[in-house]
Amino acid sequence: MNIDNTSNNTNDNSRPVTPLEEDCCHNGCNPCIFDVHAKLLEEWKKKKKGNMKTQIRTNLLCPFSYKNFIITDIKEAAENYILLSVKYQENEIKNNVKLLIKPGHHVMLHLQEATRSFTPIHFTDDNIQFLIRLYDNGKFSTCIRHAKIGDEIRIRGPYGNFKYKCNSFQNIIMFCMGSGITAMYPVAKSIIDNELEETRIHFIGCFQKMSQVPLKKELQIFSDYWNFKCTLYISQLQNEIHNLHGINIKCGHLNEASVHQILRDNTSDTTLVLICGSQEFDNSIKQWTNEMDYKCIHVFE
Ligand SMILES: Cc1cc2nc3c(=O)[nH]c(=O)nc-3n(C[C@H](O)[C@H](O)[C@H](O)COP(=O)(O)OP(=O)(O)OC[C@H]3O[C@@H](n4cnc5c(N)ncnc54)[C@H](O)[C@@H]3O)c2cc1C
Repeated sequence: MNIDNTSNNTNDNSRPVTPLEEDCCHNGCNPCIFDVHAKLLEEWKKKKKGNMKTQIRTNLLCPFSYKNFIITDIKEAAENYILLSVKYQENEIKNNVKLLIKPGHHVMLHLQEATRSFTPIHFTDDNIQFLIRLYDNGKFSTCIRHAKIGDEIRIRGPYGNFKYKCNSFQNIIMFCMGSGITAMYPVAKSIIDNELEETRIHFIGCFQKMSQVPLKKELQIFSDYWNFKCTLYISQLQNEIHNLHGINIKCGHLNEASVHQILRDNTSDTTLVLICGSQEFDNSIKQWTNEMDYKCIHVFE
């Protein structure tokens, strides 16, 4: 933790405000709000030194202090998955202030005693929706299982280093496992929704069972678009299904041979590979992708 002891006493209101000691939840979060503040302060100083125009902050969220939201809906999304909807608690939002979250970027949710990272899958000016995987003895999972509509939930962020420019690649291959779908979904949606995009997406999702695949309807709708192809690898699938309303279904685990085959069908210098899953999944896919000479790889972690 890196606490800023320099003064906030400046007429420049673009200077990142130093968080108060009580803004920290003392849960050992990564990133801690003080680390975030130190980084923003460093960037702000650099911009000031270079006499660059500083951007007026209009984001409702802040990376180093929590904003209060309330839970407006919790519904089942698949086996062990819920969709959580939250709304900013203030009734009046200033004109130029709204939620700004880049696709694939995440926020920290603080509920009761638990703080964890989550990637918004939808948002409007003051509402956010999350897809959350529940684990049997998970700390956050237990808190959210006991949460009710109307409960307060605190959010800070957004964070992330994924950058994407329209049409900068001919193809994007998305490899994800389980809740890793939350990083890919907003990126895919932003590309599909942009009529200027000519980039083709191949989404490859890995799950244990069909009943554990969240956002099935959304993936089916995406598959109707000319530039979206979806393949699911279901490790515990008993009976072979080849196609489910536009989604290709494969039995078993995604392995080295399948990854190499998928990559062989694309060109390494015009393709971006995105990866999000467990550490083991990320490492394996990254290694197999490197073996095929692909250089543009981003792992969401
Ligand atoms: C940048 C980032 C974005 C994320 N976005 C999302 C998101 O949008 N949706 C989402 O559901 N999760 C997301 N996660 C994961 C999330 O932050 C939590 O780690 C997860 O929800 C588990 O929290 P928990 O407190 O319930 O479990 P913990 O108390 O942290 O863990 C308890 C037990 O749960 C099991 N467990 C926990 N995590 C995993 C795992 N990944 N794989 C297998 N078993 C596990 C293990 O048995 C573990 O011992 C994200 C993580 C990161 C780093």
